[in-house]
Amino acid sequence: MILFNDFSKEPKIIKQEIQRAIKKVVGSGWFILGKELEAFEWGFAQYIGTRYCIGVASGTEAIALSLMAHNIGSGDEVITTNITAYPTISGILQSGAKPVVVDIFSENGLIDYRKIQEKITQNTKAIVPVHLYGQSCKLDEIILIAAENKLIVIEDCAQSTGATFNNLKCGAIGACGAFSFYPTKNLGAYGDGGAITTNEETVYHKLLSLRNYGQTKRYHHESIGINSRLDEIQAAILNVKLQYLEHGNQERHEIALTYRKHLQTVECLTEENYGTHVNHLFVVKSQHRDKLAEHLKNKGIQTYIHYPIPVNRQKAFEWQKAEKMENSDKFAESILSLPIYPGLSKQNINQIIQNVNDFKI
Ligand SMILES: *Cc1c(COP(=O)(O)O)cnc(C)c1O
Repeated sequence: MILFNDFSKEPKIIKQEIQRAIKKVVGSGWFILGKELEAFEWGFAQYIGTRYCIGVASGTEAIALSLMAHNIGSGDEVITTNITAYPTISGILQSGAKPVVVDIFSENGLIDYRKIQEKITQNTKAIVPVHLYGQSCKLDEIILIAAENKLIVIEDCAQSTGATFNNLKCGAIGACGAFSFYPTKNLGAYGDGGAITTNEETVYHKLLSLRNYGQTKRYHHESIGINSRLDEIQAAILNVKLQYLEHGNQERHEIALTYRKHLQTVECLTEENYGTHVNHLFVVKSQHRDKLAEHLKNKGIQTYIHYPIPVNRQKAFEWQKAEKMENSDKFAESILSLPIYPGLSKQNINQIIQNVNDFKI
């Protein structure tokens, strides 16, 4: 059986290092807002190339808090993409703002930035581009539209830790970068976690307070915050994992290259030349997607669909259903994600390729 994600493949030395790191936190008796988090925030800001990083409880809340830190909320509209993990939408909703979705490019699944302008109203305050599957959106175009319309750009980097656009890391280009450390992400914790990157000092201070009940100093609350912190154990785990992120991304890159070279019966998504793709997911398209998935399942290969239902077709979005988004619809019907993760063996990769290529309807 080839699993879609397999944590048992994580190298023993990393696991042992993590066990030592957890033990250290347990021994320290300090579990919230301490030295591990400080070290991680410093290291992650360094890695992304921003002045600041704020650890939070999840990727969803990283999006919500980034918007809240820019005073975006009730009555405001936030533009994002119609094909994304639903938490992008949950995060926008949590801020109080209304998500407005835009159709995608069929070739790579990313937001079609040419369709953003027509969605901008007096109430629009921000754009949340999602660097889906590990690849940056065309950020220069998006930043330009945002600048012309005085909108804030919050990058959803949950799937793109380490990806770049024009030699800058995703998360260092917009006003904020929102990251998720959900276990399956390229940089994954052993539980929930997230972070926000920014270069703005005022936004940084606001976020420190917002994630901690709106507290500025102990028992003084100047804004209506929430409880959204990255705890010491997760931060300690991430301090270890951050050291192996580049190596893991390189392994993903090599698997993706092998897939691209040898897969025959399916169409791979395009890789744009404006940055580096970190291959969080490897998505292919097939006219006979469901049959292909069934075929692979029968061969013991687990696959998923990211994502089977566009946002505007979700029950919670009936009010946006009126508009047809053809690219999203066709895309969601034809995509399939193949296993890709550090530790996936050459033998398994070959088995996957062989079985995809053997597929006949
Ligand atoms: C995982 C993910 C999120 C949310 O992250 P959580 O840490 O699970 O809250 C947001 N956006 C995208 C695109 C994601 O893939």
